[in-house]
Amino acid sequence: MAKAALIDGKAFATSLRGRIATAVAGLKKNHDITPGLAVVLVGEDPASQVYVRNKGKQTAEAGMNSYEHKLETDTSEADLLALIEKLNNDDKVHGILVQLPLPDHIDETKVINSVSPDKDVDGFHIINAGRLATGQPALTSCTPVGCVMLAKDALGNLSGLEAVVVGRSNIVGKPVAQLLLAENCTVTIAHSRTKNLDEVCRRADILIAAVGRPQMVKGSWVKKGACVIDVGINRIDGENGKTRLVGDVDFDEAVNVAGSITPVPGGVGPMTIACLLRNTVQAACMINDVPVPEM
Ligand code: NDP
Repeated sequence: MAKAALIDGKAFATSLRGRIATAVAGLKKNHDITPGLAVVLVGEDPASQVYVRNKGKQTAEAGMNSYEHKLETDTSEADLLALIEKLNNDDKVHGILVQLPLPDHIDETKVINSVSPDKDVDGFHIINAGRLATGQPALTSCTPVGCVMLAKDALGNLSGLEAVVVGRSNIVGKPVAQLLLAENCTVTIAHSRTKNLDEVCRRADILIAAVGRPQMVKGSWVKKGACVIDVGINRIDGENGKTRLVGDVDFDEAVNVAGSITPVPGGVGPMTIACLLRNTVQAACMINDVPVPEM
């Protein structure tokens, strides 16, 4: 049986980072602007520490300034808000990312909405969510942008295609659905209360799984030839007592039905930081009233 083409997010992200580095060099040379990204980490969550380290490294590799702010777990909400206010007013900082999750005593929504919308490179601020929903230029959440870039790379023009997004979170499901709508797809958003989920999924020319349940989407849920984008990152028990990463799609089954599919790891995951860097360049241009270069 013919297998689906693998969508190589790692290679795509590497070439995107190369184009970002070229754009950054141009901004420095022609406008004396060095985009700067500030990342704020509260507490010692090990996964968050790895993300923050990778973000800092890749920001510097693209020629941008990286500012890391590591705060103690018991930092008060007021102190965190004061730091964000300082970063909002710092001309060297064009993008601010507050690593989630935050400790329980801090109101995440309040913090997200305290970041200046012009520097909200995560695209989580209510103003950017509203701009996206109403078709206005916005800083858009990184993982959803990465998903749509990969789908366009695999399929070309998405106009008129049936897209099914499984998951309706504010950080993945809803924004990816908005982006697909902007590409003129016919979009269905499915979630935990959706009836006959397998049937709904089988309608999809583009199937996006953002659920957080390991290998939930079975091969029999996939329409023959569909493009499957798996956002899930789940750690499960593997061989020899080791754990391994799997997506929300049963890859071994779906690869025999789909036309193209992202692996986990190496699919959507690497796109997130690349899109964060791209958003930072975009923010730096918009703040300085300079045209955003092609990336
Ligand atoms: P959330 O937990 O916020 O949302 C999960 C969504 O899936 C909800 O809308 C929920 O529905 C839906 N859902 C849960 N169970 C079912 C089910 N049995 N059937 C149908 N729908 C279901 O997750 P996120 O959106 O934050 O993340 C989703 C996945 O993507 C996770 O695996 C996460 O690790 C990964 N991720 C990867 C990123 C990357 O690649 N860089 C970035 C962000 C996330 P309901 O609303 O009804 O509860």
